[in-house]
Amino acid sequence: MEKIRECGECDLCCKSLVHEVYGQQVSSDNPCRFLKNGCSIHPNRPPQCKRYFCMWAQGVLPEWMYPKDIGIMVSVKDWPQGKWLEVVECGGEITDDFLMDLLKFKAPIKYMKDEEVVIIGPPEFEEFYQHYAQQILSTLLCTTNLQMKK
Ligand code: SF4
Ligand code: SF4
Repeated sequence: MEKIRECGECDLCCKSLVHEVYGQQVSSDNPCRFLKNGCSIHPNRPPQCKRYFCMWAQGVLPEWMYPKDIGIMVSVKDWPQGKWLEVVECGGEITDDFLMDLLKFKAPIKYMKDEEVVIIGPPEFEEFYQHYAQQILSTLLCTTNLQMKK
């Protein structure tokens, strides 16, 4: 998918999307160090930043779901049977109505509730997600170990 909408003043993915930026593993506990009133290295940001567009920026979600306004970011990801949606609270709250809107896309959904992973999807997706989560965890541990050795 491509970018359809401009991000404007939103910077939630620079604070909450788990991805690597020049040796830093960005996550909600560890916002990108280059985020200074916008991306301070915008022309030279890494390819993974250039490639990422949330579901709203892709023009798929309705206008009112602008991440900065609702404090929720929705990422579209691939799995062997199609797409799945990762929903992350970034100051907002995932409500039942919000989930009902996402269910219209007929894709598995993953989000966190009371620090527990919640999955709405078939058992095959749950199995896929377990492997996916393990990979993310190993990457995070690996990066932390490397940073501790420096
Ligand atoms: S969360 Fe979406 S709208 Fe916000 S900065 Fe990232 S891609 Fe743009
Ligand atoms: S390098 Fe720029 S675009 Fe990428 S996460 Fe950091 S601030 Fe955001």
